[in-house]
Amino acid sequence: MRIPLIAGNWKMNKSPNEAQEFAQALVEALLEEPKAEVLICPPFTALPVVADVIKNSNIRLGAQNMHWETKGAFTGEISGEFLKELGCQYVILGHSERRQYFAETDMIINKKIHTALQIGLKPILCIGETLAQRENNQTLSIIKSQLDTGLDNINDISNIVIAYEPVWAIGTGKTATPTQAEEVHNYIRNNIAQKWGNHIADKIRIIYGGSVIPENIDTLMAQPDIDGVLVGGASLKLESFLRIINFQR
Ligand code: PEP
Repeated sequence: MRIPLIAGNWKMNKSPNEAQEFAQALVEALLEEPKAEVLICPPFTALPVVADVIKNSNIRLGAQNMHWETKGAFTGEISGEFLKELGCQYVILGHSERRQYFAETDMIINKKIHTALQIGLKPILCIGETLAQRENNQTLSIIKSQLDTGLDNINDISNIVIAYEPVWAIGTGKTATPTQAEEVHNYIRNNIAQKWGNHIADKIRIIYGGSVIPENIDTLMAQPDIDGVLVGGASLKLESFLRIINFQR
């Protein structure tokens, strides 16, 4: 059985003080064990305060990016080892905003995944097609090539989470329909089964991201291959994030 993962990507939102306040409220609201694994990914600057607030809770901590080297002359970059030391268990890699605004390629993302796994961080590998690619019927071929290169040379993928995030659905209010999302999730699972076997494909979590809100969480989570969600905007407000965490299946 795959335990659902509900992850909040705060992007460049919430100062350390705001993050601390939000995390405190979330801890208080989640005193009962949620049915999903709950993860929050604040900006780097808020990680220490949030780590402190959630340390005795059932909420996990993740980062939004890291460098592929663990130390050295890389001004402005952050090492996965630093993130681990702060208590991060997960790291989002290859988010479409990193690909789009910071020129991250599948090869760079692959290097980061290798390093994250060596360090003991669980990568959340984000993949997804643009609107033009979808309209040109390239969705599945794009997904395949992002998986092929992103996961190149990785023998054990059991600690990786795949996030299918159609670029046209991120922050736009246009969610993929449950059927559209399920089609791609199922494709991803079959692709993994072909390369790593059914036992791994059955275990690996494939989560959906792109304008997830309280109004669409239940129908998305009703799909057999959707094992959770990566939430941007709706993870910034307590009420909406809580409703998403408490999805009904
Ligand atoms: C994201 O940033 O990963 C995301 C899915 O954002 P939003 O939920 O705001 O579309």
